[in-house]
Amino acid sequence: MTPVIRARGLVKDYGPVRALRGVDLEVHPGEVFGFLGPNGAGKSTTIRLLVDLLRPTAGTVEVFGLTPAAGGAELRMRIGYLPGELAFPARLDAGEYLRHLAALRGGRGRPRIDELAQRFSLDLSRPLQALSKGNRQKVGLVQAFMHEPDLLVLDEPTSGLDPLLQREFRLLAQKSVARGATLFLSSHMLGEVEEVAGRVAIIREGRVVDVDDVRALRARAGQQVLLRFAEPVSLAEFDSLPGVQDAVLDPSDGVSLSCLLRGDPMPLLLAAARHRVVRWQVQDRELEDLFLDFYRAPDRTPPRDSATSGPAGTETGTETGTEKEAAR
Ligand code: ADP
Repeated sequence: MTPVIRARGLVKDYGPVRALRGVDLEVHPGEVFGFLGPNGAGKSTTIRLLVDLLRPTAGTVEVFGLTPAAGGAELRMRIGYLPGELAFPARLDAGEYLRHLAALRGGRGRPRIDELAQRFSLDLSRPLQALSKGNRQKVGLVQAFMHEPDLLVLDEPTSGLDPLLQREFRLLAQKSVARGATLFLSSHMLGEVEEVAGRVAIIREGRVVDVDDVRALRARAGQQVLLRFAEPVSLAEFDSLPGVQDAVLDPSDGVSLSCLLRGDPMPLLLAAARHRVVRWQVQDRELEDLFLDFYRAPDRTPPRDSATSGPAGTETGTETGTEKEAAR
């Protein structure tokens, strides 16, 4: 089956700044794919390459088997794109703007404008220039979803939305997947995509450093365990157990042990059970912690082979990226 998105060794330079250093990605039909990384990691650049707002310096990208440049208007009709930064024309109100976009798409999506606006409690009569950040984001979401595209490419879709509207977004995302659409959504916060995404890629400094199922990522993120014993214990009993990392024994009392547990809990449980345990507290580490593991430790080898980055591209075939209209 042709992947919906396939990127191979994508490199993008902005003048002297190398924003992407060989990004490989493969997104399959019907997936909700999360694209995660800190600010400046290269998420928006990758997304702009997907929707033909930029052209790669090196490497290849295909959407539905076509390069975005070759796919042209026909390919764009199949994509709903939410830019990270929305640029709206002056003087139109939200409704006029959305109807204008629908007209550009041959009328597709127009019947859904009211329904989507209602879903997000968006007042269509408000002038675009007077909208708050949250309301601007709603307009962006309506225009991305209204023509029921086969692929939704959403750059930080829930930024600026309150929790209730984030929930509306998730419901809309689920509905889109149910009708067969594919979703590619970026975020700098793992928690934001955790509830909708199946697989996620983590991008850092222009490279994809990890691709995994959200649940597997959560398992790898591990748990923070706090133990308190009735009598002092020795750190040596715990710090080299399989699955136990970063074990610390409070030197002031010798009875409080904290550690990170990844994988099988039995070795730790058995070791602890040799003593009288008076407190046992386990906390899921947030995916953010796993993400920070990569972020904080530049030399750390990611724990999976698939985490390798693509080849760093060469300078040949350089095309200058051109920014076009931000919102389509
Ligand atoms: P993210 O979306 O993950 O925050 P970006 O793709 O926006 O990251 O940026 C990746 C890198 O490229 C950053 O170092 C950023 O400063 C740089 N960059 C992005 N856009 C431009 C631009 N138009 N000109 C120069 N550098 C840019």
